[in-house]
Amino acid sequence: MTQRILVLPGDGIGPEVVPVAVAVLERVADRFDFAIELDSALVGGKAIDETGSPLPPETLAKAAESRAVLLGAVGGPAWDDLPTLERPERGLLGLRAGLELFANLRPAILFEPLAEASSLKSELVANLDILIVRELTGGIYFGEPRGVEVVDNERRGFNTYVYTEHEIDRIARVAFDLAARRGGRLCSVDKANVLEVTQLWREVVSAAANDYPQVELGHMYVDNAAMQLVREPKQFDVIVTGNMFGDILSDVAAMLTGSLGMLPSASLAADGSGLFEPVHGSAPDIAGQDKANPLATILSVAMMCRYSLDAPDAADAIETAVHQVLAAGFRTADICPVSPGSDIQRVGTEAMGRCVLELLE
Ligand code: NAD
Repeated sequence: MTQRILVLPGDGIGPEVVPVAVAVLERVADRFDFAIELDSALVGGKAIDETGSPLPPETLAKAAESRAVLLGAVGGPAWDDLPTLERPERGLLGLRAGLELFANLRPAILFEPLAEASSLKSELVANLDILIVRELTGGIYFGEPRGVEVVDNERRGFNTYVYTEHEIDRIARVAFDLAARRGGRLCSVDKANVLEVTQLWREVVSAAANDYPQVELGHMYVDNAAMQLVREPKQFDVIVTGNMFGDILSDVAAMLTGSLGMLPSASLAADGSGLFEPVHGSAPDIAGQDKANPLATILSVAMMCRYSLDAPDAADAIETAVHQVLAAGFRTADICPVSPGSDIQRVGTEAMGRCVLELLE
């Protein structure tokens, strides 16, 4: 069966890193014998310039018909003065909502050759491999009522932190399934000592655990989880949490690895289709200079193979190739030590892509 993939390069360094990652996808499809059909469309600032909208209806329609979407990045100074609802980032939010992508997967993997890049001691983070599963379409970011009102002559701001049982259950099951395929440990993060909504979260996650006897479930308050992530991050395997806590903890975990240019992500819908994108933005400061690190986008393609295309061997091969490229000493500027030794070779975006492709031969 041929699987449709929509490619959305977007803005800034997106059109530089995405073609490199697409070449990797085509290479593994060929080598591991699965059929893909690629299409591309406009999103973000470029879409605003050409159509007036950050997410043209044609793009959303194509995305909905695709098994997976590969996105580069959106945004940049040219569109910074637009009103919030018309900015390039609305294209991304529109895709998440339109495709009902409720499960956001953010791995924090530290490839051993880059252990020095972390702000933590290298022994704490070498070979780190944790996965944060964040609920993406509910919680306090979407809860109603919300707003700012005047009460007793002063302004009062309010938001609502709300989760239904089914929203908690479906994200818990995604996380249990992933933990069962990895190290078999799941830590659910909440604030059940203070917030009723997260007491319900803890109850529903615990009930779902009955269907996953092979997974060891633990619970942690969010403040402790933040401390533990920087104290002893390797104690975690998979973490599952709500939208706001996940937003914060996934950025903490990301920084353990030291470089934005290395971080992939996936956002999945209930049928296993998904949107795959690097965590970084459009990096306007280096756009068009062949300096961007394409590895985050290449690793996003690995996630696509694993989670949407049912090609785990291809995912493993891509991750192994990235590890080998780093071990061989190739570095883009963002991950290159200030005073590189003779065994380190600084390369640009395209050359880094060619190194990965060669190892996938
Ligand atoms: P950014 O991630 O684009 O850049 C932050 C810093 O990291 C910059 O110095 C940049 O050069 C560097 N960097 C980022 N990716 C890199 C890569 N692959 N290789 C080497 N260096 C890399 O964040 P920002 O500067 O805050 O935002 C720039 C634009 O991107 C803004 O318009 C913002 O709204 C947008 N943005 C988009 C997304 C997205 O599309 N998902 C995410 C974040 C920011």
